Amino acid sequence: MGLIVQKYGGSSVADAESIKRVAKRIMETRRAGHEVCVVVSAMGDTTDELIDLAKQVSPILEGREYDMLLTAGERISMSLVAMAINSMGGDARSFTGSQAGVITDQSFNKARITSVTPGRLRAALDEGAITIVAGFQGVSETTKDITTLGRGGSDTTAVALAAALGADVCEIYTDVDGVFSADPRLVPKARKLNRVAYEEMLELAASGAKILHLRSVEYARRFHVPIHVRSSFSQHEGTWVRAKEEKVEGETVEQAIIAGVAHDTSEAKVTVVGVPDKPGVAAQIFRTIADAELNIDMVVQNISAAATGRTDISFTLPVGDGRRAITTLQKVQPMIAFEALLFDDQIAKVSLVGAGMKSHPGVTAVFFEALSNVGVNAEMISTSEIRISVVCRADVVKDAVAALHTAFGLDAEGGEAVVYGGTGR
Ligand code: ASP
Ligand code: MG
Repeated sequence: MGLIVQKYGGSSVADAESIKRVAKRIMETRRAGHEVCVVVSAMGDTTDELIDLAKQVSPILEGREYDMLLTAGERISMSLVAMAINSMGGDARSFTGSQAGVITDQSFNKARITSVTPGRLRAALDEGAITIVAGFQGVSETTKDITTLGRGGSDTTAVALAAALGADVCEIYTDVDGVFSADPRLVPKARKLNRVAYEEMLELAASGAKILHLRSVEYARRFHVPIHVRSSFSQHEGTWVRAKEEKVEGETVEQAIIAGVAHDTSEAKVTVVGVPDKPGVAAQIFRTIADAELNIDMVVQNISAAATGRTDISFTLPVGDGRRAITTLQKVQPMIAFEALLFDDQIAKVSLVGAGMKSHPGVTAVFFEALSNVGVNAEMISTSEIRISVVCRADVVKDAVAALHTAFGLDAEGGEAVVYGGTGR
């Protein structure tokens, strides 16, 4: 017996039938004697549909009203889930993020949680009720405006509430059986991981694995919240995300060297051609980019051509920010005196992640051999202690991921990974 936070993603509450199924599952947990706090996402593709609607009435997709609009999706699912539970004889009460005490800063669209004051949730739980909270939203401490936490933010709501309520576990329910060694939609032989360390999950999430919101993992690591990622469509044990040192009962096998392969097709590459190769120029370029509040990922600089004393600098950033990066840099072209700008949105990033690579030689060699065997050219390379990433052409991403998955012995022997629902939109 304990306190369990359960988060149900959009595909788990996609329609009335799913909502009833989820309600039953929540009731079972409550009947087993646990206190239950549930966090829900918007039904199915509701958030995307709200964004499409917004586009039809305004070119400005940000600010107070935009956030207010997007939070509506989660309010629909929270009340429906509560109604379904109550009709089954349970006692459920729904709360908006603001009512649940999720306090954020005031940056619309990507607000950060600054504190959680779950007094009303605690009181309802004390009365034996099941609390259902709208994910992905909070309220600004200073302006009292409603904010959203960024796409996928319900995971972060769940972990933040689990930390604030002192939950024993934060269960994240999704449409696959857990965290896989690669996206099962791309690699049918992907295998479910029984456990992943916070560090590995952080690298996977930052490298494009969409299973958990990056900030939810940061939050969980900071507040030691164990996460159990599992399917709402099956009873299978999922993937535990927790500290590497933590011993799990009955576990004897040594941690694998490699956790998995992640890919990301949401970035574009900007190349600044013919940059004078002298101190201060890269600083000017990236100051310009930073002042425009553009967030970049990878950076490479070529060796400068001896004859001209010039070099090329490339960097990647979210494809949606590409146009702004180009216009921003065009403005400083006369001052920096570079020759040209290139924009390329046909790229993908492929990353290999594993805490064991720190202490195992040869991982980088196998990595590049595997890519070369399938004719994939690495255009940019970046590494951390536990990750190797390359940028390649977008149309070979599947080959690259599959080749690495096989080369590192990650292919599952048994059946194919099951994707239970969702449109992958
Ligand atoms: N409904 C929001 C989204 O689609 C938040 C979430 O699902 O976590 O991004
Ligand atoms: Mg999600």
